[in-house]
Amino acid sequence: AASLAETDPELARAVRDELVRQQEQIELIASENIVSQAVLEAQGSVLTNKYAEGYPGKRYYGGCEFVDVAENLAIERACKLFGCEFANVQPNSGSQANQAVMLALLQPGDCVLGMSLAAGGHLTHGAAPNMSGKWFKAVQYGVRKDDHLIDFEQVEALAREHKPKLIIAGGSAYPRVLDYERFRAIADEVGAIFMVDIAHYAGLIAGGVYPNPFPYADVVTTTTHKTLRGPRGGMVLTNKEDIAKKINSAVFPGLQGGPLMHVIAAKAVAFAEALRPEFKTYAQAVVDNAQVLAKTLIGGGLDIVSGGTDSHIVLVDLRPKNLTGKAAEASLEHAGMTCNKNGVPFDPQKPMITSGVRLGSPAATTRGFGTAEFKQVGEMIVETLDGLAASNSGDNAAVEASVRERVRGLCRQFPIYPTL
Ligand code: PLP
Repeated sequence: AASLAETDPELARAVRDELVRQQEQIELIASENIVSQAVLEAQGSVLTNKYAEGYPGKRYYGGCEFVDVAENLAIERACKLFGCEFANVQPNSGSQANQAVMLALLQPGDCVLGMSLAAGGHLTHGAAPNMSGKWFKAVQYGVRKDDHLIDFEQVEALAREHKPKLIIAGGSAYPRVLDYERFRAIADEVGAIFMVDIAHYAGLIAGGVYPNPFPYADVVTTTTHKTLRGPRGGMVLTNKEDIAKKINSAVFPGLQGGPLMHVIAAKAVAFAEALRPEFKTYAQAVVDNAQVLAKTLIGGGLDIVSGGTDSHIVLVDLRPKNLTGKAAEASLEHAGMTCNKNGVPFDPQKPMITSGVRLGSPAATTRGFGTAEFKQVGEMIVETLDGLAASNSGDNAAVEASVRERVRGLCRQFPIYPTL
């Protein structure tokens, strides 16, 4: 019955330090969020002890009656949330959800058409170093140079030339609405399956502030831990029974063994939270806050990829201030605002340097920041980056320390996990 602090003080210390880090900095990584204590509790529960290979009612282990309740709740709630017939809530991550679709519906060597990493796509959409790019013939589309929107003429031309078996929409750094109807028409023309990876937008879709890929998509994949604000994990959704059967076999036994039942329980909790009316308010605030942030940064002399955002993502082009993503990420971190360097479309810099940073509003919105706070965040980012530019990307410690004080003050006004 000894606590973590008693049995493993070294590890307990790292957990405590991470809690304090989260409490005292402003989280601007677009793919992160702050889950509820109920989600933490479910994930930290005794369900972690249980083997449950198979699916509810059809397990390869005894003693599954209670974990079946958890998985059935997660499935029912996921279907209600996204308005679909079928959900597989077992994928351990978004990457495994995407792998499951490829294992279920493709043969090695089949052609896959997805958005390139450089344009804002995800590694699992056919990038060269990923399994999706190694085991499949991956063809990649991008965005237009002038407005940074998906180049549908290119999508169309590539689809006609290569006749992909699977067309993927969705990405990790695409701030705008996806035109599902246009993708669907292209997929129909060339006889492709149409998949949408809503990993980033899932919470916004659940909250009704970003378009739902159904009825256009054949199959939808997502993570559960980004805007959707659940535990780390993945999920596959569809309305088609034939696809559903193949997805189930692909997830287990195709890719995974025993599902993480404690995580599935936490997914169920998060989906119930997302079904409540307050979640709509949160989702709208996420978009409002991102738009205020983008506007404030433009006012401070920065460029925003595509000129703004329809979502939680603000992709900042730092070139007007002659800064790299690498230097900006480090300085903002010192100032108490965590984000990640990110390539901008047609980026002249290498992927480890980049000309941009990706910012996101979900986590700070969850802790209660509204548009007034996001305006302040934008101003503090500009102040930090101006200091960095003035120092020629050298020592920006004085500005960072001054901003950090104000960041801490703001964080204390909007505390997280006060009882932990
Ligand atoms: N798909 C998209 C669009 C993503 O942004 C991500 C995560 O960054 C993933 C899939 C993969 O999710 P995970 O990191 O859980 O494997």
